[in-house]
Amino acid sequence: MSLPPQHFVIVGGGTAGWLAAMMLQQAGAKMHKPFKITVVESSKIPAIGVGEGTTAVFRQMLKQFGLDEFEFLKETEATIKFGIRHKDWRRVGHHYDGPIDDPHLVMESAGSKPQSYIDIFSCAAGRKLADTHLFAYLLDQHKAPFAQMSDGRKVAMGPFHHAYHFDQAKAGQYLRKKAKRVEVIDALVSGVKRDSETGYITALETDAGEVAGDFFIDCTGFRKTLISAMGGEWLSYRKDLPLNRAMPFWLDIADDEELTPYTTAWAQGSGWLWMIPTQSRIGCGYVYSDAHISPEQAKDEIEKTLGREIEPRSDLRFDIGRQKDSWIGNCLALGLSSSFLEPLEATSIHGTIVQLLVFITYHLKATPEDAAAYNAFAARQLDDFKNFINLHYVSERRDTPFWQSVANDFIGKATRERLAYWQNKMPDIDDFAPLPGGFAHTEQQLYYPVLDGLGLLNRSAAQAAMEKNPALKQKAKAAADSLTAEYRAAAPRAMPHRSFLNSL
Ligand SMILES: Cc1cc2nc3c(=O)[nH]c(=O)nc-3n(C[C@H](O)[C@H](O)[C@H](O)COP(=O)(O)OP(=O)(O)OC[C@H]3O[C@@H](n4cnc5c(N)ncnc54)[C@H](O)[C@@H]3O)c2cc1C
Repeated sequence: MSLPPQHFVIVGGGTAGWLAAMMLQQAGAKMHKPFKITVVESSKIPAIGVGEGTTAVFRQMLKQFGLDEFEFLKETEATIKFGIRHKDWRRVGHHYDGPIDDPHLVMESAGSKPQSYIDIFSCAAGRKLADTHLFAYLLDQHKAPFAQMSDGRKVAMGPFHHAYHFDQAKAGQYLRKKAKRVEVIDALVSGVKRDSETGYITALETDAGEVAGDFFIDCTGFRKTLISAMGGEWLSYRKDLPLNRAMPFWLDIADDEELTPYTTAWAQGSGWLWMIPTQSRIGCGYVYSDAHISPEQAKDEIEKTLGREIEPRSDLRFDIGRQKDSWIGNCLALGLSSSFLEPLEATSIHGTIVQLLVFITYHLKATPEDAAAYNAFAARQLDDFKNFINLHYVSERRDTPFWQSVANDFIGKATRERLAYWQNKMPDIDDFAPLPGGFAHTEQQLYYPVLDGLGLLNRSAAQAAMEKNPALKQKAKAAADSLTAEYRAAAPRAMPHRSFLNSL
């Protein structure tokens, strides 16, 4: 074993494992010091098989890997995601959209830091914040992010990165195929050998013999095989978020049926239903609280909601939370072995990519100081995700025991404090401490659509902010008017989502 590590051994061949392999391989190549990378995966244990919505960061990674987006869409039967449609969260019959493009990125900055002046203006003027988002129109009209020219070329509708919905197993297989110079061992890991002095892992014990290495990455999913052997401690968010069980199922779709380019997150009586279309089916699941309903009641409720019978594919119980320390000694846990939150904002695969970026950018020497700094970052990232998800539960609903319990017991201190603070001042970038390297995180651009959708923005505070700065108000009005007019006119020219995918 040597540090800095030269040989990375990744256990697990799900999305997390293959993202780790690809990103480490690319980092080594960039530094002209290619690492040896081994992936140990077991054909006896399938990947999780759910987890299908990404954020824009996944597309950025595909580009960084030099992979062809259209090939990826075709081979993984992926679809486009412009954001999330939240149904019945504020009250039954109401919905709001969370488009993931940020209009501020294409307008002249109003200062040295990223600003929210267009959102603040829209709120002050009583307009829908989504009106200035290109993705809001594309999402609503079931469009693709490309228009087709008369010569057949496909031209991007805008500069923003969209996200995807995909079959998680197919995405993992696609990355596996593209990863070159990675040793793959099909073996079941049963334990680890550790150095008697340092406690570091020296080798894995598997049914195919020992596998030695310098640094070990635990991507074994909910099994947490390596990090548990290192004494990893699970920090539960059970008291902060109300759900603990999921019932995934698929719905068939006809070949000519239009595909929604958004995830549907549909609040139910005791949790919420996700609906994520791939090209051949809609991946769905009811995430619920089994303190309030049984699996049978959950199934009945969803069948009533959808007006059709469903066949649950599994019954998942989970303890929402994270590793207290996801890096111990020379073992780093990633993906489901390091954390799990209900998939309301697709934070899991996103979180894994950002964790890998931080590890690769700052901590490849793998010293104990690196481990401490990384653990502090990962803890913050996950706690911030948890708080962001918690915000979604600030609802007017009290129609079931679940929603009454949410209102009484599950709106966290951080959420309450923030909402009180934002009664007098509009949210901005200063309210969110940046991650190391400024990597993508849940900040004001993601909070605004949710706050707006749930009716939690204070219009008077927005008006006061605009009145204080007439020049900014004028600039914001011009930006909002021009973006709204431009996107309204442009969206109908985009290809329909299904025909775009069929054309690839
Ligand atoms: C209900 C649900 C919905 C989700 N929805 C989303 C979503 O919409 N968006 C999102 O970003 N994320 C979502 N996620 C999370 C997402 O599924 C995961 O982040 C992602 O798939 C990565 O999983 P993984 O690679 O960590 O684990 P897995 O996919 O479980 O892979 C584990 C791998 O480890 C291997 N393995 C396990 N034990 C051993 C062993 N002892 N020896 C050898 N190999 C072993 C297995 O063979 C497998 O290859 C969801 C998760 C759940 C449960």
